[in-house]
Amino acid sequence: EERSFIAVKPDGVERGLVGEILRRFESRGFKILALKLTHPTKELLSEHYGDLSSKPFFPKLLAYMQSGPVAAFVIQGKGAVKIGRAMLGATNPQDSAPGTIRADFALDIGKNVCHGSDSVESAEREIALWFPEGVKP
Ligand code: ATP
Repeated sequence: EERSFIAVKPDGVERGLVGEILRRFESRGFKILALKLTHPTKELLSEHYGDLSSKPFFPKLLAYMQSGPVAAFVIQGKGAVKIGRAMLGATNPQDSAPGTIRADFALDIGKNVCHGSDSVESAEREIALWFPEGVKP
């Protein structure tokens, strides 16, 4: 069944939002397949955000993602990628629909609390990158 990679970014962990965010995915009916608190390396983040490396905000993005631990998890269930993105809300919390995680907990695109894979292909790539030890079905 479809899987997606979700991460609570350092600002979300620092603010104590991990439980609330996990609860939303569990309540929706997704299975949590893997879960860990991790300090991503610069190498991992450069790979994860490879498509953004030429953006002016890239150095700030890496510093933000290394400002504390990240809660990384894998959800599994029907429509995991699309529904996962919908539950997070628009990348910029200023544009996120009410009821989404970013709208409910963030104001600033530079501190938008969470990440979710944007396609089935990137989900599988990100799961392999963040969980090189493997994820049991
Ligand atoms: P994510 O990959 O975190 O789920 P996304 O796929 O919705 O986000 P991308 O355009 O891939 O959005 O941007 C990745 C991340 O880079 C954003 O979540 C945000 O933290 C950061 N970011 C994007 N645009 C900006 C910006 N203009 N200024 C600062 N940070 C930004």
